[in-house]
Amino acid sequence: MSHVFHRSLTASYPVATGGDGPYLIDADGKRYLDACGGAAVSCLGHSDAAVIAAVQRQIASMAYAHSAFFTSEPMEQLADFLVARAPAGIDSVYFVSGGSEAVESALKMARQYFVERGQPQRRHVIARRQSYHGNTLGALATGGNAWRRQQFEPLLIGVTHVSPCYAWRDQSAYETDGDYVARLGQELEDHIAALGADNVMAFIAEPVVGATAGALPAVAGYFARMRDICQRHGILLILDEVMCGMGRTGSLFACEQEGVTADLICIAKGLGAGYQPIGAVMVSKDIRDTVRAGTGFFQHGHTYIGHATACAAALAVQRQIEERDLLANVRAMGGLLQERLHQRFDSHAHVGDIRGRGLFLGLELVQDRDTKQPFDPARRLHARIKAHAMQNGLMCYPMGGTIDGLHGDHILLAPPYIIAANHVDEIVDKLGAAIDACVV
Ligand code: PLP
Repeated sequence: MSHVFHRSLTASYPVATGGDGPYLIDADGKRYLDACGGAAVSCLGHSDAAVIAAVQRQIASMAYAHSAFFTSEPMEQLADFLVARAPAGIDSVYFVSGGSEAVESALKMARQYFVERGQPQRRHVIARRQSYHGNTLGALATGGNAWRRQQFEPLLIGVTHVSPCYAWRDQSAYETDGDYVARLGQELEDHIAALGADNVMAFIAEPVVGATAGALPAVAGYFARMRDICQRHGILLILDEVMCGMGRTGSLFACEQEGVTADLICIAKGLGAGYQPIGAVMVSKDIRDTVRAGTGFFQHGHTYIGHATACAAALAVQRQIEERDLLANVRAMGGLLQERLHQRFDSHAHVGDIRGRGLFLGLELVQDRDTKQPFDPARRLHARIKAHAMQNGLMCYPMGGTIDGLHGDHILLAPPYIIAANHVDEIVDKLGAAIDACVV
């Protein structure tokens, strides 16, 4: 028996030993097409020579230097690279080791910002019910995914939640996008009023919801409205682009497509593409200037902040994406994948919705397409689809979960940005076989 405390203590996993472009290879030589980038991480595939060389060069020159003593060239260069391409108003970067740490750090930055400004009463965070922001306690408290929170509820800070922008289930046939946005905007306004606007610190949301919803974008105008409401009340907007950022939706930052910027933007996954663990918070000039003019010190920190090897890997990843114009491929292959998914599943009795942007696509599975009734959770459909697909050499990211008492099965697709048309065909063929075999 394995001595590793794996996430499942009953399942047995194949041993991953190699990578070849968008494929992972196990110890028996079996190849798996990585149609989900693990968890939307591996955006450059598994064998990028330039990134591997950059990691090797950096680790050969220096193992580790603590950020309380030194900065490093890779960290400075990566910060410059990201800020030069960031949405308006962002002017610095705080590096961490992953998505949850990025969200925790953003929450603490927001809090310290208001303490420094003499508004210590601002401490409430508003999040959305259908969301995932990570598994550490602060991040878990902001997430709205009931089954992830359930047993940890007594340990969570009191974040309150408003409705997600989930048009397929929530927008009525008589509502225009504008009406729907106005309704959700009013809900946020009412929520803020109930808490007292001066007590609210931040509103946090994923521009395209990943793990809890299978690549769910908002309707047009939603984020502009939320941003406007936050600004009017002096509330910080935190965008969690841990999954949807770094090119996944076809633009470097997902919020570019919403025409909004934010006070804090959390990124991770695609930043280092899995070659090293790294995440970051993109910070507005206003927040940086406030802390700088105040105590001059962000009261937070982790041992591996700005690890030089992780920064070197991320810089190489981001340069590869830019130099090879891989975002053009994200848009082209994303369009093709959407088209093929529609061809294959539009008349499928149990595929209710196909959605997403770029190479961040999702399917929602239902028992009944007309009523949108989800499958009985006891069937654990998502887990069976994952197992079937793996058996057949395909990695996809199926999720089930209870949202507002409603169980839903989603499949998230987030393949590497380097895929070609033959990979799109393989994804759709194998996914179709897995769904057909498991829904009966
Ligand atoms: N935020 C979002 C939107 C995520 O999808 C995730 C992970 O899936 C996280 C935060 C947490 O990131 P990590 O697992 O790197 O801690």
